[in-house]
Amino acid sequence: MTIVVTGGAGFLGHHLVKLLLEKGKSVVVMDSLWTGSQENIAEFASNPNFRHILCDVREPLPDVEDLEQIYHLACPASPDDFERAPIEILETCFLGTRNVLELATVRRARVLLASTSEVYGDPEISVLPESYRGNVNSFGPRSCYDEGKRTLEALAFSYRLKNNVETRIARIFNAYGPYMAAKDGRAVPNFIGAAMDGQPVKIYGDGSATRCFQYATDCVEGLYALMNSDYDKPVNIGSDLEMTVSDIANKVTRVVAEKLGQKTPVAVQYLPKRVDDPTRRKPDITLAGEVLGWSPKVPLDVGIAQTVDWFLEKHGNPKSLM
Ligand code: NAD
Repeated sequence: MTIVVTGGAGFLGHHLVKLLLEKGKSVVVMDSLWTGSQENIAEFASNPNFRHILCDVREPLPDVEDLEQIYHLACPASPDDFERAPIEILETCFLGTRNVLELATVRRARVLLASTSEVYGDPEISVLPESYRGNVNSFGPRSCYDEGKRTLEALAFSYRLKNNVETRIARIFNAYGPYMAAKDGRAVPNFIGAAMDGQPVKIYGDGSATRCFQYATDCVEGLYALMNSDYDKPVNIGSDLEMTVSDIANKVTRVVAEKLGQKTPVAVQYLPKRVDDPTRRKPDITLAGEVLGWSPKVPLDVGIAQTVDWFLEKHGNPKSLM
């Protein structure tokens, strides 16, 4: 059985490919290396069950023999990318997902689509069940991603209806961990990078916005469980440990200071809030527990420590991060 992972050279892609190879699967990564890297897949290169095809999912995908499952992860996921490349992101969400579903149609493969908590927009309720339909601005700096991912879900429904493609939809909430790109603009690597370099940590807004951070290995185990379950409607995959962005920044800066033997963590600098950035974000993960028997396992302190260790090991010279 062959499994395609689009976006397999990215952050979550790395962890997912590792998990699949450990389970003895044959894995074909399709990735253009746009926001991912060769480094993220270097350790798999000598595995005979691994292959990387350099391609852009916006173009029709190469055929793959014995294809049974496709994890479709290819898409930039950082707010910095939303500003840099909104049209390409929309194309990736629509054309890329359509190309994946076309290949799945031909090969009768099952597809898991990486959707996101962003489909809920800036929610008006505090805990988000899958039944919540969201509060999304269709005309703003995040809309390429938020609406792009809503389109991805609509494509899944439509291909199931018209072509009988088996689809699974994971609404992923903030994940963090090793193999995140240091400069990709997301909170945890931003905080680690700044703290390692002795620079103030930048927070957009007053720091009171909340997020729930899940460790990467928990997340990909959730994706694996969902792909192999019978449940075919959207499922939240995330942690329900809610904390403010200030709390997470303080935690990260303390850990970096401890590991570098510094007495005081770096300062926090508050910048204007980003437009349409959600003020609260907490998933209801009851459904994932019920239908997948899944819940996150790695405690935040352990995950943060492992992530900081990885960044310190990878970027021996902290200045190289900035
Ligand atoms: P990432 O940027 O690290 O990985 C994305 C990968 O997709 C990269 O390797 C990139 O090169 C590849 N890619 C992007 N566009 C492509 C294209 N047009 N053709 C081929 N390859 C392309 O991001 P990630 O955090 O690993 O996210 C993976 C998926 O999970 C994304 O679809 C993202 O929307 C979703 N997601 C992630 C999070 C999170 O917290 N990490 C949260 C919600 C949803």
